[in-house]
Amino acid sequence: MIPCACPLAQYRSQQHAINRAIRSVLSVGRYVLGPQVEAFEREFAAYIGVPFGVGVASGTDAIAIGLRSLGIGPGDEVITVAHTAVASVAAIVQAGATPVFVDVRPDDLTIDPARIEPAITRKTRAVIAVHLYGQPADIASIRRLCRRRRLALIEDAAQAHGAREGKRRVGSFGDLAAFSFYPTKNLGAIGDGGMIVTRHRALAERVRQLREYGWDRRRVCLRSNGWNSRLDEIQAAVLRVKLRTLDSNNAKRRRIAGAYGRLLRGVDVTLPASRQGCEPVHHLYVIRTAHRDQMRLFLAGQGIQSLIHYDPPAHLHPAFRAYSKNIIGVGLSVTESAAREVLSLPMYPELTAPQVREVAAAVREFFS
Ligand SMILES: *Cc1c(COP(=O)(O)O)cnc(C)c1O
Repeated sequence: MIPCACPLAQYRSQQHAINRAIRSVLSVGRYVLGPQVEAFEREFAAYIGVPFGVGVASGTDAIAIGLRSLGIGPGDEVITVAHTAVASVAAIVQAGATPVFVDVRPDDLTIDPARIEPAITRKTRAVIAVHLYGQPADIASIRRLCRRRRLALIEDAAQAHGAREGKRRVGSFGDLAAFSFYPTKNLGAIGDGGMIVTRHRALAERVRQLREYGWDRRRVCLRSNGWNSRLDEIQAAVLRVKLRTLDSNNAKRRRIAGAYGRLLRGVDVTLPASRQGCEPVHHLYVIRTAHRDQMRLFLAGQGIQSLIHYDPPAHLHPAFRAYSKNIIGVGLSVTESAAREVLSLPMYPELTAPQVREVAAAVREFFS
């Protein structure tokens, strides 16, 4: 079976360094929010190109705490996409705010900047741009729009560690950005983890308080809406080891995407598209076909796992249907047709060239 993602292969490729890092944390005896977390916060923020990083328990928490740190909550609207992991939307609801869905671009399936302005109301406080599948959203245009309309900009970069827009890495454009270190992400822990990165010292300080009971540095509770969302030392130590190979692993993903592109040329499927001037990191390799469900069964029969990211889209999940009334104008037609067609092929740095050829051959064979 060729899996879609394989965190075990990544562990094996760095087994000795990872084991050493874990043993060292065990014998130091500091297990939550210690020196490893502080070092990883500095290193990861520097990698993204901003001064502050605050480790939290997950990517979902990073978005929810990020919203709260901006003072966004009940009565406020947050514009985002329905074509995303439900976590992006659950985090808005968790912060007490109301998600407002806009459609995605037909080419790379990231948020369509042209759809944002018509969705702005007097209650709108922020836009969450999701860099989906490792493809940077059109973040420079979105940032200009947010500045002009005085909205906060949050980047959901849970699938885009290291992706670039122009020369800058995504995560450095918004007021703050949320990352997830779930094991299958481009930078993955051996459990859950997340981080908020920002260039604003005051925001970073507020996030630090919110992640631990609302405490300030003297353990005085300053905020009643704090909770417990901490990153632990073992995860941080492992993530520091893996950060060293993030760029080379992303380069491997780009090589695999290039190979898929060549091998699938002329096949009746839509291949992933990237906007000019950006460098994606291919968290997922998502093709589109009207025969998605049949192809998925066929691939499974050939020993190839494929997954669907995402169907149904967020606004059609029972929990979020209530927010569909916020969909204005032309609706979410691109989102809804993409949901019926998307199929994620195996994509992870350790995937071998013969495996990539095997997957591509099976996709070809489906049509023959
Ligand atoms: C994974 C993911 C999240 C949530 O991260 P968790 O660490 O699982 O909470 C949020 N948004 C997107 C786009 C994701 O892919």
